[in-house]
Amino acid sequence: MFEFDRIKGKFGSKDHLDPFERQSDNTEDQRALAWQAQNREKTNLLIKKAKEDYSGILVPEIDYKTATSGYRILRELEEYDIEFLDNLAVLGVLEKSVHNKFLVCPVHASSFLLSVRVSCPKCSSINIERLNLLEHRACGFISEKKNFLANPEEMKCPSCKKQIKNQEKEIRLPASWYLCNMCKDKFDEAKINLHCNEFDHDFTTTQAGSVALYNYVVSDDSQKSALDIGKLHEEIAKILTKYNHTISENCTVKGKSGIDHNVDIVGTDSGGKTIFVFVNDSDETNMEIDSKLIQILDTSPKIAILVGFSSISEKTKSIAAKYNLSIISSQNLDEIISEIKKIVSAKAKKQDGDNTK
Ligand SMILES: [Zn+2]
Ligand SMILES: [Zn+2]
Ligand SMILES: [Zn+2]
Repeated sequence: MFEFDRIKGKFGSKDHLDPFERQSDNTEDQRALAWQAQNREKTNLLIKKAKEDYSGILVPEIDYKTATSGYRILRELEEYDIEFLDNLAVLGVLEKSVHNKFLVCPVHASSFLLSVRVSCPKCSSINIERLNLLEHRACGFISEKKNFLANPEEMKCPSCKKQIKNQEKEIRLPASWYLCNMCKDKFDEAKINLHCNEFDHDFTTTQAGSVALYNYVVSDDSQKSALDIGKLHEEIAKILTKYNHTISENCTVKGKSGIDHNVDIVGTDSGGKTIFVFVNDSDETNMEIDSKLIQILDTSPKIAILVGFSSISEKTKSIAAKYNLSIISSQNLDEIISEIKKIVSAKAKKQDGDNTK
């Protein structure tokens, strides 16, 4: 069963970080970043799925029988969360565009199962019919259409009895009106209402609400920067193993401050010296890299390598150099791997040199 894309107040719920909420730009950015950090894993999973199974384009599926719509990809995730897609659109990970727009019942906003109803403006009965007055051009006789069609096989003028072969040329349509079969009233314009099929009531077109369904397309930027993180982890682990390190992934390391830090890959050699590898798997910001620096200073590994940060400020570079920290800015898997090899082998050699002295 789909969950319908309901009209909601923008990010109404309190337990939700809200990148939409207009506060000062600064606060908004911070909230967006915090949200991004909290949802990194889920985001990566979604983008990976979207690209592999949906060619990067998420289109709503609409079930007209139940008047619901939804995104199949969201049903494949742990929880169905339409706001998640919207948040990613705000962050520029997805591009959002209108797929279709529906009128919905003003009372039951979830239902777009509507039909159009014409009714009598006087008694509101839907038991009305449209009558047409036809004029036979040849003789000038005017009557209701049904009188010209006494025999459904052929159209004939009820007055001069002449057969009408070409309706368009021989008949003129002087007027039409509605007749209400209930109150027998005749009227030119029927009342047009919309009917909520699900809950069986009428409303006017001006009362109707509308709801838009959106397409979400994985934006080019995120396509470009999307490294195969799984593969990268694998390759890094291989290199570290080759240089006699035991590997642990997604480690929690307690810093000198007593705070726990999460390190993507930790390699430990026989002497207990550690190499930390931090993998940036999202849109990078300087704030993020700076927060990594703080973690590294707190945990003081022998070597720290930061992977996947594509643009790094001069300030960050100078801090990194000071603390013997390697930042690999490439987004290309092979380049990253070869850089890591260089760093690890150079440090291994240096260490050998230290030992022999
Ligand atoms: Zn309704
Ligand atoms: Zn009527
Ligand atoms: Zn006639």
